[in-house]
Amino acid sequence: MQIEIKRLKIFACHGCHAEEKVNPQPFVFSIQMETDGAKADEIQSTVSYSDVMKFTLAYTKEHCFNLIETLSDSLAREILKNFPLVKEVTVRVEKPEAPVPLDFETVAVTAKRKWNTAYIAFGSNLGERREILDGAMQALSCGEIRVEKISSYLETEPYGGVATLPFLNGAAKLSTFLSPEELLDALQSIEKKFGRTREVHWGNRTLDLDLLLYEDYVLETERLTVPHGEMAKRRFVLEPLCEIAPCAYHPTERKTAKELLQFIR
Ligand code: ATP
Ligand code: CA
Ligand code: CA
Repeated sequence: MQIEIKRLKIFACHGCHAEEKVNPQPFVFSIQMETDGAKADEIQSTVSYSDVMKFTLAYTKEHCFNLIETLSDSLAREILKNFPLVKEVTVRVEKPEAPVPLDFETVAVTAKRKWNTAYIAFGSNLGERREILDGAMQALSCGEIRVEKISSYLETEPYGGVATLPFLNGAAKLSTFLSPEELLDALQSIEKKFGRTREVHWGNRTLDLDLLLYEDYVLETERLTVPHGEMAKRRFVLEPLCEIAPCAYHPTERKTAKELLQFIR
């Protein structure tokens, strides 16, 4: 079901110029939401457009951003966080009185965010491993990320010839509206929080969080490879992944987690 709010006008203070931060000007919001659809003819079973409008009003007045890019994207994120039935949202913000001395109708930017499915692998072989992993799963559930499923923790022997202590490994299914890069940032900041240091590659570590799959994305940047480059070879990744998502699909190997695991048996 699609719910649309068209051209909601709000006076607020967003802009780079000093005057814009004190003198309210009009901003016009058009918001499209994809929802799970009303199951019953009752207000609780859908997203209340009136609540979204009131939320937009309060959020727009409470904040003061330099850019309508930031305003539209932050509002899109907040709508996904605060209205759990919304799966996808598009927020268009117009600024018809932007301080440009030319004859124009309006300027506008559009932000789009949606909930995506991602799978991660986690491991720990230093310190109170179980508590660290429990703590990491809790730290992940932050509004921007929902932890949908967690595998059991698997005791495994060190891998790669550098680490010396046994690991606890596992996998988790996440929903997130963060991009893959933003999700990697979130994973790395949680690693840090739990005392992760990087002295030697594949060394002992309190916490390792690897992004395995993100929807059916195939990405190769300097800091991020998706699907994770080694996942198809690693039993300690595929076993827990199969426990929670045997049908999770590896887009370049063109195999499910279950098929990949059978392949390395
Ligand atoms: P491996 O990646 O083989 O499991 P590791 O987990 O020990 O080894 P790290 O030291 O944790 O390796 O990470 C090295 C770098 O890998 C990170 O700084 C990160 O930028 C990069 N990286 C690339 N792709 C991914 C991914 N899918 N998930 C996590 N990190 C990734
Ligand atoms: Ca790893
Ligand atoms: Ca890692």
